[in-house]
Amino acid sequence: MAACGEPGKQRQEEVAAAAVVVVGSCMTDLVSLTARLPKIGETIHGHKFFIGFGGKGANQCVQAARLGAKTSMVCKVGKDSFGNDYIENLKQNGISTEFTYQTKDAATGAASIIVNDEGQNIIVIVAGANLLLNTEDLREAASVISRAKVMVCQLEITPATSLEALTMARNCGVKTLFNPAPAIADLAPQFYALSDVFCCNESEAEILTGLTVSSPEEAGKAALVLLRRGCQVVVITLGAEGCMMVSQTDPVPKHVHTEKVKAVDTTGAGDSFVGALAFYLAYHPHLSLEEMLQRSNRIAAVSVQTAGTQTSYPFKEDLPPTLF
Ligand code: ADP
Repeated sequence: MAACGEPGKQRQEEVAAAAVVVVGSCMTDLVSLTARLPKIGETIHGHKFFIGFGGKGANQCVQAARLGAKTSMVCKVGKDSFGNDYIENLKQNGISTEFTYQTKDAATGAASIIVNDEGQNIIVIVAGANLLLNTEDLREAASVISRAKVMVCQLEITPATSLEALTMARNCGVKTLFNPAPAIADLAPQFYALSDVFCCNESEAEILTGLTVSSPEEAGKAALVLLRRGCQVVVITLGAEGCMMVSQTDPVPKHVHTEKVKAVDTTGAGDSFVGALAFYLAYHPHLSLEEMLQRSNRIAAVSVQTAGTQTSYPFKEDLPPTLF
């Protein structure tokens, strides 16, 4: 692993260092809109097809970048046209792809999605190249991880790789923001201990704690259970209800409300929230946690008012200057 502290070298490189590094997934969404969902063995005509850029890791990185963060995406895509297009998408969002690896051994992660006129869907996800991102790749990317202000990861890559990323960041004094999604019931205890900020939604909190989480009060109780496992801060997002926060320094759960908006499409709202939180942790560390969460709520609220995932994420220029 690259040394965390080489003062002379570090000072020179600081100018170029990414403040937010995401170690996570890229997925190509292949979306077909149809009147109804096909039966087994049936072929039907759809009325629209589009390709979208997704994957929790890349979504969060794109949102942080659009708020003005200097970002780097550590991930793996296939050596195929989807992989090439994904790299182009990251670049167009101003994200460094220095450690975006391409492999011949698997296809770029893809989600085949069919949505009917009632909004019901069938989805098949093949994580593909995402699962080949390994600890050796992380070691190659150590120089960028060790110089970040915040390292963000999720669970759409192999848990061992996420754990190594969290360990590397912690060893270098880089703040860790962990989004345990999709959640696994038997998450290794180290994930909690290595999380400066542990941020999940209600259903993930249910899987992780075994508790029912369907109100802010219940979210507060679940947050305390997660906090006791060793996280410094726990945030549970609550959709239109905003989020709950609790921390080791203030272990009384607090509800952070959000504004009422007309939601059009909430897909990817959680990733917009996490990306925004990464931005504030990196660029406005002096703000109180509550203020950071209020602002992240406002940014995610913008994202739900437009269709799509990354396409709905706002840019700094579209937002009130008071958020910066
Ligand atoms: P996920 O997308 O992971 O299911 P949530 O549904 O909890 O996560 O949403 C994440 C965040 O997005 C919320 O904390 C909130 O800030 C914002 N959000 C989601 N849905 C709405 C909504 N209907 N109105 C306003 N904000 C919303």
